[in-house]
Amino acid sequence: MRVESILEKVLPAKYYPRVERMYLKRRGIRYWGWKHTCPCCNGHFRTFVPWGTKPVQIACPRCYSVARYRLLYLYLRNKTGFFKDSLKVLDIAPTQNFQEMCKSLPSIDYLSVDISSPLAIVRMDITAIALTENSFDCIICYHVLEHIPDDGKAMAELFRVLKPGGWAILQTPVDHSRDTTYEDPAITDPDARESAFNQCDHVRIYGRDYKDRLERAGFNVHIDDYLEELGEAAIERYVLIRDEKIYLCTKPS
Ligand SMILES: [Zn+2]
Repeated sequence: MRVESILEKVLPAKYYPRVERMYLKRRGIRYWGWKHTCPCCNGHFRTFVPWGTKPVQIACPRCYSVARYRLLYLYLRNKTGFFKDSLKVLDIAPTQNFQEMCKSLPSIDYLSVDISSPLAIVRMDITAIALTENSFDCIICYHVLEHIPDDGKAMAELFRVLKPGGWAILQTPVDHSRDTTYEDPAITDPDARESAFNQCDHVRIYGRDYKDRLERAGFNVHIDDYLEELGEAAIERYVLIRDEKIYLCTKPS
């Protein structure tokens, strides 16, 4: 049994986050090395580790960031003003690390929402966002839309609350070999959804028309093949996966 498990049994719950940080620090030391770098926690490691199931992902041993978040950090750092500009940010379905990082930046006024996650600051259905229009400079929506039956309504709501001139990164899995999105609202059983859409809680597989759907909501869409720009050495260093392009969406001024 790891020492942190024993500590969690004997210490009050308020100490759990401290114990968890201690465990992650120890893991970081255990996996320390120069081969790989995590852009999320800036750690250096000899290897990354498998994490989760269906699908198993390759995570940073210290902060557990998965490949798509490592790509997001690199993109935000190198291609946007996210870490420098004064921004009002809306984060849909937050992850703990990204949320903590955003909250730690004095230049960012941060709000996270989710329909059910206890991590979110506010519980909210993004097909009916209870927020004022034109109120955010930036929206981050990572792998959410493929779960939402009425994705058009969600996209329209995201567009509504974004300020004119604002930008959003709206990521979903996209099968670029497909012309059109595959969806069938009659498929509701989790096993059937897994067979049809690759995951038990997905409701579609987006094709290249994902861009058209975003444009119908009003966005200008720039598909950035940032992995290609980064190149093989960076893909190896940051342990990225060649499975997505960045959908950078802007609201016309
Ligand atoms: Zn990390």
